[in-house]
Amino acid sequence: MPPPPPEGDREDDGGDPYASSASDLPVTRYASEIVEAVRANPVVVVIGETGSGKTTQISQILHRANLSSSSGDNNAPPSSSSTGIVVTQPRRVAAVSVARRVAHEMNVPVGGLVGYTVRFEDCSGRDTRIKYVTDGTLLRECLEDPSLSKYGVVILDEAHERSLNTDVLFGLLKLLVRTRKPTLKLVITSATLESEKFSAYFGDCPVYHVPGRVFPVDIAYASERPRSYLETAIETTWDLHRSQGPGDILLFLTGQEEIESACKRLNERVRDADETECDDAQILPLYAALPPEAQARVFCAPPRACRRIVVATNIAETSLTVPGVVFVVDPGVVKQNVYDPETGCDALKITAVSAVQARQRAGRAGRTQPGRCFRLYTRDAFEHDMPIVTVPEIQRTSLVGVVLYLKMLRIKGLSVLDFDFLDKPDGAAMTDALRQLYVLGAIDVDGEITEMGREMSPLPVEPQLARAMLEARRRGIVEEMATVAAMLSVERVFVGGSGGGKGQGQGQGQGRDGRDRDRPPPIASADETKMGDHVVLLRTYEAWARGGHRRRFCEEHGLNDRGMEFARDVRKQLLGVFRDRGRDRDMDRGNGDRDGGNGDGDGGRGGKRDRDGVEKNQTQTQRRGDVTDLRKAICVGFANKLARRLPRHNGFRTFGADASMIAEAHPSVARSLADDVTGLLPEWVVFHSLVSTTRPFIKGVCRIEPEWAAQVMPRLGDVDVGRLSGGALAEERTGANAEKAAAAAAEAEAERTREAS
Ligand code: ADP
Ligand code: MG
Repeated sequence: MPPPPPEGDREDDGGDPYASSASDLPVTRYASEIVEAVRANPVVVVIGETGSGKTTQISQILHRANLSSSSGDNNAPPSSSSTGIVVTQPRRVAAVSVARRVAHEMNVPVGGLVGYTVRFEDCSGRDTRIKYVTDGTLLRECLEDPSLSKYGVVILDEAHERSLNTDVLFGLLKLLVRTRKPTLKLVITSATLESEKFSAYFGDCPVYHVPGRVFPVDIAYASERPRSYLETAIETTWDLHRSQGPGDILLFLTGQEEIESACKRLNERVRDADETECDDAQILPLYAALPPEAQARVFCAPPRACRRIVVATNIAETSLTVPGVVFVVDPGVVKQNVYDPETGCDALKITAVSAVQARQRAGRAGRTQPGRCFRLYTRDAFEHDMPIVTVPEIQRTSLVGVVLYLKMLRIKGLSVLDFDFLDKPDGAAMTDALRQLYVLGAIDVDGEITEMGREMSPLPVEPQLARAMLEARRRGIVEEMATVAAMLSVERVFVGGSGGGKGQGQGQGQGRDGRDRDRPPPIASADETKMGDHVVLLRTYEAWARGGHRRRFCEEHGLNDRGMEFARDVRKQLLGVFRDRGRDRDMDRGNGDRDGGNGDGDGGRGGKRDRDGVEKNQTQTQRRGDVTDLRKAICVGFANKLARRLPRHNGFRTFGADASMIAEAHPSVARSLADDVTGLLPEWVVFHSLVSTTRPFIKGVCRIEPEWAAQVMPRLGDVDVGRLSGGALAEERTGANAEKAAAAAAEAEAERTREAS
């Protein structure tokens, strides 16, 4: 391990912190040591301060050292089977932004020697030797090519983030470096020091510390807990701007809305302040969903010599380094998703950051000169209340996708339960994943992957949506379902503006009572809005597409123009995948429509055959009128997200998880779903997600018919988790839930009979 550079060795930044040059980054200075370490070892862990050049430089260094191809010869003509170095990022924006940066530094076009591949966007080609990808993308590549034979070096970057997909890649690559020795090199890079844990996991591999160039950061604590961290954060930032000398301010907040509102208020303050009070300031938001150009602004010097105030999510903690920061304001909170496997409920909670994160945040202030960090919590809270490290995502998220993935990979002789995770996931989350996969027909009663599961796995959408798409294909409406899936992947379709509010409730239905004469007529008919979110999303996209994908249309209807363009791309990609897979399938079987069944893929016993005479090529009629098949496909895909309205009020009881919950329909859809006369919501629905904010809500709601629910119900009650896990999980038959499900099924059946008579 090299000693830290002596003080005098520090290069002067020339007074311009925005003009960073690759040659004076710490990682670049230790290039030869890093190359030696990688040559000598199959796995190397590199730890270095954020901003030291791990992400942008190590790939270039290894490429220059001819380590990018398994033959070790970079001068060999690039062949399609050798793209060299792949670098994973947990975040899509980071993968794209960093690839562009590296291409710029190497003076090559993006998509040439340097490229990136993220879900729904491939910007790489035959000549690509350094490829930035999301960790999810590399997992999908593993399905096609389990030994990752295209690559000579895999760099798992931002390991400290412990994203779910990166954790799975740890396990897979640990096996791969053994089987592909010595042609595959693995480099793990991390900003923080869980080095012993990583090293032990990878067979005591060497850990290389890149000495950072950090300046001291003075830390100030609050004397008491603030009543509102947001108010205090804005006040503190404003005070700093008025009272402190030059240097940019970085304020950490928890999400887009909070950031936009803080930016707005800070902007007003700057605008209203008189010249003697303070200088000008440029306020810049930074969060993942921000358009790329707006994101890129944080890397540029301000137009005039004025202070920049960057208001960011924890994306600025380690994955993107904002230059010029001297002051950090840290409210000590982060928005984190915690999944409850018992109920299937996601809770997006504002929680305390870990002490490790707090140190990272403070460190952002000391990159170019001594800095100051203002913690809006007490020293006592930092020392005693904060968790020491962040809980890895694998221990707080649904594992449905991961378990299906591991089943699909069929790692030789390994059951999913024996997979070598760095930190084992929770047993209840495993049980939940197996149960859900069984309900979807992706695994059979013994936990073996089914043909349905095999078809679902490679689709680049969550398992439920994959199942719905396969059902839609069977019904000849794959285009419609692809549209819905694409629209669901847009963060916010409805953004307000002249056309209305967020959800379709305001976004579409507003013209119904004729009050708003200047507003355009709603896109979906009143009857269709009663079918729920998915149908409205479909009609919205169709109307936009019919009108020639115009921005004007988006403005008129309060749609997120960029989001719509994204949906268009995603839709095209999804249909492409289907077309390709359809072709393979037809060739394999000589028949394009074999996977009959109605949601009980492997023909489990509860399922009734669907005898409603599905015909293919209904696309045209479907487009004009009936959305029944679309709703049926969604019902099959989201069978484990079923809910029934309570008899006397508009709450819903959920089914499909171990324990049911009472939840409300999200306000964005509730109004338009309700019956005009009785005000009641539909009795049965499936939903996309169950989210607890102030209270539990179901979001992405689709009305279904009672008889469809009756078909799904028995399967929900029929889960034998002990058997699904090959006995590895305790015989945990879900008695209570089975009973509940059976009772509700009986009730639904009785009602149907009543209605029929
Ligand atoms: P690390 O991965 O160690 O945190 P990076 O390689 O991401 O470090 O960053 C190294 C330097 O490159 C930083 O000074 C950062 O500001 C700069 N940088 C990274 N991405 C960009 C970009 N897209 N545009 C301009 N500068 C960038
Ligand atoms: Mg990095």
